[in-house]
Amino acid sequence: MTGTTLPEVARNLAGDGTGQPAVRHPFPPTALRLSLGVTLLLASTASCSAAGSQGGHPPVVTAPAPALTAGSGTADRSRPDERPFDTTAHSTSEPTSIWVVVNKSHPIVPRTFRPEVSLVRGYQVANAAAPSLARLLDDADEEGLGFKIASAFRSYDYQRSVYDATVASRGRTDADRVSARPGFSEHQTGLAADLVTPSDPSCDFDPCFARTPGGRWLAEHAWSYGFVVRYPAGKEDVTGYAPEPWHLRYVGRPLAAELREEGITTLEEVFHVSGGDYA
Ligand SMILES: [Zn+2]
Repeated sequence: MTGTTLPEVARNLAGDGTGQPAVRHPFPPTALRLSLGVTLLLASTASCSAAGSQGGHPPVVTAPAPALTAGSGTADRSRPDERPFDTTAHSTSEPTSIWVVVNKSHPIVPRTFRPEVSLVRGYQVANAAAPSLARLLDDADEEGLGFKIASAFRSYDYQRSVYDATVASRGRTDADRVSARPGFSEHQTGLAADLVTPSDPSCDFDPCFARTPGGRWLAEHAWSYGFVVRYPAGKEDVTGYAPEPWHLRYVGRPLAAELREEGITTLEEVFHVSGGDYA
């Protein structure tokens, strides 16, 4: 027994210091709900008819015009209702956006940005990405892959220490191929995570990770959790980085699925954002 009475519990939940039990209605009463429904219905009807009758905005055409080629018997009609993927649905420059593009041409603004984070297996991950990363790791465990997070959110100051240490050991030119300068790291968004496999660490942080069971599983399944393998082989000129088959970046499942469907492998290409080396 803790001696806590029900009213005390209610006050604790309320947290408003009034001493009054919080009585909250998640939904308006039925009558209000009904009237809201009617209001919404009227509003949507009005916006549809107003465009034509009052000289307002012309109707927005969002569906692609069908190809009207004469005799186009070979036209792809398998997905007649599909609309073009909206690549403007999220910002590519706001650091809190799940579509933010951070590369050697596009540093994080503001430079010392810190995301809101949750802990995933002890590592700080941006709130938007944390549940999906946790699910990916749980499912991978069930497959016997045994991933461990090696790095997730990295602050500006921490990235500076990583980069400076890499420059000291490998020289600046080589360091720039594998480590971001502070303020230019995707890890600072909290949306990126590096995975390793402690049971077979020989390919950790090495391109040969792509050929391990874990690397192959990520290449095949990461998209379904909303992640992309951010630095693919053969795209160093686009991303600015050597292949990193262990570096995942959360973008949300709709975009990850779109990239997979279209065979696009970099954020720079899908968003037409410049990348490559530092200016
Ligand atoms: Zn990384």
